[in-house]
Amino acid sequence: MTAPRMPSRLPEVGTTIFSVMSKLAAQTGAINLSQGFPDFSPPPLLLERVAHHMAAGANQYALMAGALPLREAIAEKVARLYAAEYDAESEITVTAGATQAIYSAVAACVRPGDEAIVFAPVYDSYVPAIELNGGSAVYASLRHPHYRPDWDEVRALITPRTRMILINSPHNPSGAVWSDDDLRALEALVRGTDIVIVSDEVYEHVVFDGAAHRSVVGYPGLRERSFVVSSFGKTYHITGWKIAYVLAPAALSAELRKAHQFIVFAVNHPAQLALADFMRAEPGFADGLAAFYQEKRDYLRRQFEGSRFRLLPCAGTYFQLADYSAISDSPDTEFAHWLTREKGVAAIPVSVFSPAPMRGPGERVIRFCFAKNEATLAAAGERLRAV
Ligand code: PMP
Ligand code: GLN
Repeated sequence: MTAPRMPSRLPEVGTTIFSVMSKLAAQTGAINLSQGFPDFSPPPLLLERVAHHMAAGANQYALMAGALPLREAIAEKVARLYAAEYDAESEITVTAGATQAIYSAVAACVRPGDEAIVFAPVYDSYVPAIELNGGSAVYASLRHPHYRPDWDEVRALITPRTRMILINSPHNPSGAVWSDDDLRALEALVRGTDIVIVSDEVYEHVVFDGAAHRSVVGYPGLRERSFVVSSFGKTYHITGWKIAYVLAPAALSAELRKAHQFIVFAVNHPAQLALADFMRAEPGFADGLAAFYQEKRDYLRRQFEGSRFRLLPCAGTYFQLADYSAISDSPDTEFAHWLTREKGVAAIPVSVFSPAPMRGPGERVIRFCFAKNEATLAAAGERLRAV
């Protein structure tokens, strides 16, 4: 057998770091604080409602844009949280996870030759999505240790070919949260342009220390041009269900759906109906998420007391960055493999989210996920203090 010879569409891309590290953790029996997913259960009522809707017959295709009860529940949530009206019929689309939401938005907008600005470290699916659609990624930097955007730098990157800017706050992997000033600066930059924005807000409910999440929906000059992405995986502890949604003005939603219908067509039907029921029954669940995860953040941070790791600030998400330069000079990927194999705790190297020229030469930083039971975090802490 001879395989056809074919140049790769993604020559630089290997298997995602999340699969690599979770596999290594499974193979070595390490405590897995690498890939971001909870090790606890979703709310029982949510599970009960899926079983209910399967038994009640919702086992065929949902509507292409999403089951209407779920889109209505999303509209109510967004109105309540952000005082913003989005029309369930024409401005809300349910997707198979945020990854597919982002891919579909990019596929709907980016043409060969277009540029899309991303901020490095950048969530790993954005650049392949841009490149598979013929665009090129242009990198703005979020510099260690605060990972703040530099708006003069961003301004200088905008060209007539800039089609899209992809943003992510609260930010994975750094845990940084953008301020009102950041969003105003972005709003001023795109005023009068045809640039569209993908705002990845999957951690919208996970912002700490009393701060508020700033959604682009609150900024008219951003809202009018934005695909706003949120993921039920993060909010309801169901990353395995792969359900998310996109808010966008009707004209942008119509373009998004042209792509969405041929990428996935429609999303798991009983799970959508269960989510709709749950959102109506427990509208406050998401409001408690920040306190829930702040406790876990603080618990994990206490685990590091007396260790040689130095913790970076964590204002949101369920990820904690740690500097290990007092322990080792190895590059982070090597260190993360060593930590997994030899010390029994898996983490994510942060440099993989930046292209080589943008990696700080001396940065020695890895990411730990704290969406875990205290017993898991305590067991990991014991091992990490001994490193
Ligand atoms: N964006 C960010 C910033 C994420 O952290 C994740 C997943 N953790 C996603 C997108 C993808 O979400 P989903 O699992 O819903 O596809
Ligand atoms: N977003 C998750 C993380 O950052 C992983 C999602 C995935 O594995 N694709 O860990």
